[in-house]
Amino acid sequence: MAKIGLEIHGYIETKEKLFCDCPSDHGKKDARPNTNICPVCTGQPGSKPLMPNYEAIKKAVQIALLLKCKINEKMPWQRKHYSWPDLPKGFQSTFSGSHAIPNGENGEFMGIKIRECHLEEDPAAWNPDTGEVDYNRSGSPLIEIVTEPDFKESEEVAQWVKNLIVALSYIKAIDKKSGIKADVNVSIPGGKRVEMKNINSVKKIKEAIDIEIERQKKEVPEIEETRMYDERSKTTKIMRTKEGAQDYRFITDPDLPVVSLSKEEILKIKDSIPETPQEKLQKLIRIHEIDKKTAEILTKKIEIVEFFEEVTKKIPAEFALPWVTVELLGTLNYNKKELDDVEIEPEHFIELLKAVRERKITELRAKDILRSWIPKSYSPQKEIRKSSKIEDKDEILTLAKKVIIENKKAVEDFRQGDNNTMNFLIGQVMKLSNKRADYKTAKETLEKLMR
Ligand code: ADP
Ligand code: ZN
Ligand code: MG
Repeated sequence: MAKIGLEIHGYIETKEKLFCDCPSDHGKKDARPNTNICPVCTGQPGSKPLMPNYEAIKKAVQIALLLKCKINEKMPWQRKHYSWPDLPKGFQSTFSGSHAIPNGENGEFMGIKIRECHLEEDPAAWNPDTGEVDYNRSGSPLIEIVTEPDFKESEEVAQWVKNLIVALSYIKAIDKKSGIKADVNVSIPGGKRVEMKNINSVKKIKEAIDIEIERQKKEVPEIEETRMYDERSKTTKIMRTKEGAQDYRFITDPDLPVVSLSKEEILKIKDSIPETPQEKLQKLIRIHEIDKKTAEILTKKIEIVEFFEEVTKKIPAEFALPWVTVELLGTLNYNKKELDDVEIEPEHFIELLKAVRERKITELRAKDILRSWIPKSYSPQKEIRKSSKIEDKDEILTLAKKVIIENKKAVEDFRQGDNNTMNFLIGQVMKLSNKRADYKTAKETLEKLMR
């Protein structure tokens, strides 16, 4: 049986970078290079770091708590040295390294032991083809989570990483838009460990593990090595052996004070952790009496459950439920979009649902309006006025009469006992009324007329 262990990197969601007050906007892939920089994050000679960003430290501790780690109270910053164009100051500031104290250690998440997790800064982005260096992300806070080699196969890893991402995005600790990156370590019995560097999606992690296990079965690794996964050729390629691994010459940073957290502070951070997916699920079941399966649909994505919670402040949950889980999710699905990709305001959604509840517009019209909200919602008031529901019996009678005259064959079939034609005839009334006629009145009127 194979052994698999992960080192996962994710961007911590903060306003500012770790040692300067430049925005930490690594998620913005379209930002112009080097527009978000200062002397500190470009490593200018003589520049001195600011005090480390407390928000980043707090979130790193939140992550460690979520992973049930033992929390450390005193962490000296380490300098991890290497020479590379993406690192002008020559070292990376981190809580990792041979003598380091990480934010948290000896944890567990969904059955997998966590060796440690720690905060560090991101280097710049270097393009080896053009030689260009973009410092926009340089100095942004990263979390690294290291597991024990407890996984046995690729599918187990994929499910676990997905759950980890959901849990981390729930506590809003990582920036899920910029994704995660993982170093994946694999060994088989009798063979040495192989590390695959920098794999950036769950799908690729799974593929790389399967391919690497098959390869190792054919050529059992005799020395530890570092490989890379090539997605196009679906193979792993050697980068270097561990014997040739870098010596990072870790030292404690003389410019930065030891980060020190009191027990009270750690307790305060613990209390500030938002609800986990499990807690939200239980709340939906308990408070709103939603069945487990639907509650699971709602809680799969934090933005969906938050949207639902916002809507239910003004609309009863049982009424709002199908509008969110069926109509809204269906519309997003159809457009192949996530709620985060579009701008649908809960306020607009509430206005729309109110109009349906107060019978101002028909469900059919409301669904049309909802569909027109991709990519951006607008206040539906004008539409609601324009497409006000027709409940006036005389008005519906006029429409029904017209439908009966124009659909002689269907009316005849209905009279012969073919009840299905009723739906067709109601459909015609709806069409004539521009989906505004009240369904029940239309049905009753047609029945009366054809009796
Ligand atoms: P390095 O710093 O060289 O990457 P570590 O000892 O920090 O080495 O280990 C890193 C990762 O390797 C951890 O995620 C751990 O779970 C994994 N690992 C350790 N031993 C094995 C093994 N025999 N097979 C697979 N993964 C392993
Ligand atoms: Zn800066
Ligand atoms: Mg490693």
